[in-house]
Amino acid sequence: MLQALGVMAVSALLLSAAVYRFERWRLARPGGPFAPVDFTGIIVLVSTAAGWILWSRNADPAQADKLMWLWMSAMLVFIVGAITDTPRPVRGLRPLATVIAAIMLHHAGIAVTTVKLPFSDSFVALGSFSIIVSVVWLCICGPTFSRVGSIPRLSLGITAQTCLAFLAIDILVPSHTAPVSVMVAASIALICLAQLPYTRYLIYGNATAGAYMFGVLIGAIAIEGALKHTAFLVAILPLLAISVPLFAMAYTAAADWIRGERRDFWSHTHYHLHEVLMQQGYSHRQVGIVILLGHAIICTHAVVLATLIHISFLVKLIVLIEGLLVALVVTYVALRLMKPAHPPTPHDEYDLLGVRIHRVTMKQAMQRVSEFITPGTPHIVVTTDAAGIIRANKDPQMREIINNADLVTADGAGVVLSARLLNLGIDTRVAGCDMVSEICKVAAGMGRSVYLLGAAPGVADKAAENLVRQTPGLQIAGIRDGYFAPEEEPHIIADIRAAAPAALFVALGAPRQEEWIVQHMDELGVPVCIGIGGSFDVISGLKPRAPIWMQRCGMEWLYRAIREPSRIPRLSALPLILWLPVNELVSATGGSPPPQAPGGAPPDQDPESHPSRDNTR
Ligand code: UDP
Repeated sequence: MLQALGVMAVSALLLSAAVYRFERWRLARPGGPFAPVDFTGIIVLVSTAAGWILWSRNADPAQADKLMWLWMSAMLVFIVGAITDTPRPVRGLRPLATVIAAIMLHHAGIAVTTVKLPFSDSFVALGSFSIIVSVVWLCICGPTFSRVGSIPRLSLGITAQTCLAFLAIDILVPSHTAPVSVMVAASIALICLAQLPYTRYLIYGNATAGAYMFGVLIGAIAIEGALKHTAFLVAILPLLAISVPLFAMAYTAAADWIRGERRDFWSHTHYHLHEVLMQQGYSHRQVGIVILLGHAIICTHAVVLATLIHISFLVKLIVLIEGLLVALVVTYVALRLMKPAHPPTPHDEYDLLGVRIHRVTMKQAMQRVSEFITPGTPHIVVTTDAAGIIRANKDPQMREIINNADLVTADGAGVVLSARLLNLGIDTRVAGCDMVSEICKVAAGMGRSVYLLGAAPGVADKAAENLVRQTPGLQIAGIRDGYFAPEEEPHIIADIRAAAPAALFVALGAPRQEEWIVQHMDELGVPVCIGIGGSFDVISGLKPRAPIWMQRCGMEWLYRAIREPSRIPRLSALPLILWLPVNELVSATGGSPPPQAPGGAPPDQDPESHPSRDNTR
């Protein structure tokens, strides 16, 4: 067998390299005489022919016979698939070819003959229904796999993963071992992997014939290997292994139905799920990675399920559901944490759980601050963390303050992560503590002063010293601690107004500082008023700030919680801010797409940026 596999691998590599050269040559001559051809299918047929003939010489004649019928039915499906790989295919040809292939395979003994019912040890012989079940099964596998045929690299990757899963089942569960199934699974996986380095140029055109043939071959080895002896897994296991294309097919069908469109599922090359992700700005490579990741998780669960032969039905069901959920969550989270290669033109502001946040980097935030200072009218800047969002989510007054603020920045890893999960396009944290130094630089650059209000007596003075050291030329218009009686307020307000600073830092703790600013903003007349929580404590050196690496990893909250255990109750906002988006997605009808700026389609510069149904795979 090893010799046969070696021959297949070498021939697949050589053929792929030759096709690669040819396709590069063809591409350099647009409008040339050569029509696009599905070379993957040809490479598989040629390589398997060579390897299987070699294997058959030493194999049991019955097995060699099966392999021959399998190859012939694969060739039939491929040829008919290639003929129908046109924009206007002849309807019914592919189903007909699949039915004929199923009959050929049935004749060779590759058929579903018995079924074991769940919760029971007895097998039910299908008798003459066997042919019907086999036909139906192959009719599911072929078109389902052809769904991924038009997507660059995915068809080969998914096929290789599926075949490796079947191979693992064959090897790990000796009672399933069927030599033909092992041979086919190993050779298809190997040939697909051998072609991967060349996929960029391998196939052009709407070619799905190869993927269609893979579907039929995989359906056949499922019947021959895993399917034959597996009780509960009779249908579930192979369905699991092709769940990604199945899901995509269901998604396409649902999307078409909602739009009132009708398509021929046997021939068209539309892969809706992939396209939707591409429209969100993800590249082929990113979408491919995510889909293959989800598929790998599901395939691993399929293998685990196959090994759980003697475990109760309920446990198997739990493993099955867990596998699907894990794959769904992991792929969703991976997608959301990934930065789209071509992000849509972003909106200025986003709504996170009913709270408005501006999508700004520190540089853009400072640009806005200088725009606030120039006209001199009062503005409020809010930096909000997870606790602030949760508070505003529950407290209408606080929500109103934030939603009416002139600039709201995401201050906290929880907010950024939550925004990423909701695909809101906010991926930078603009922390209040950092804003203090930056605003000082802007004010100094404009020849203006700042006023420090808040924190314990002496702390703001020390913070002011440090700020002046950091920003030479900075003028301090005034300093006042944050422990004052209500009757002192008019005096403090008058002092600030008389000092006429460009910016007022208010460190009274949230939400009091924001409420105080809103209450007195007009009297104060300061262009930029910002609540900065415990920033003076940090800037003055009273409290250390988390190391840079912790800030970069979004772990500053952990550092503060360790240094100040009294802050631990506030951490309850973190799981909430991550849970609420999930809740929002579930309660929304299918989740809302990310907001698109008017005319904000992703730029189309990279040849990989769009799922080209007509030129790449
Ligand atoms: N503070 C104040 N007056 C008060 C209560 C608090 O000046 O009546 C100060 C306190 O000294 C601290 C800041 O407000 O410097 C609040 O810091 P904390 O870290 O609690 O606020 P957060 O950053 O969480 O909003």
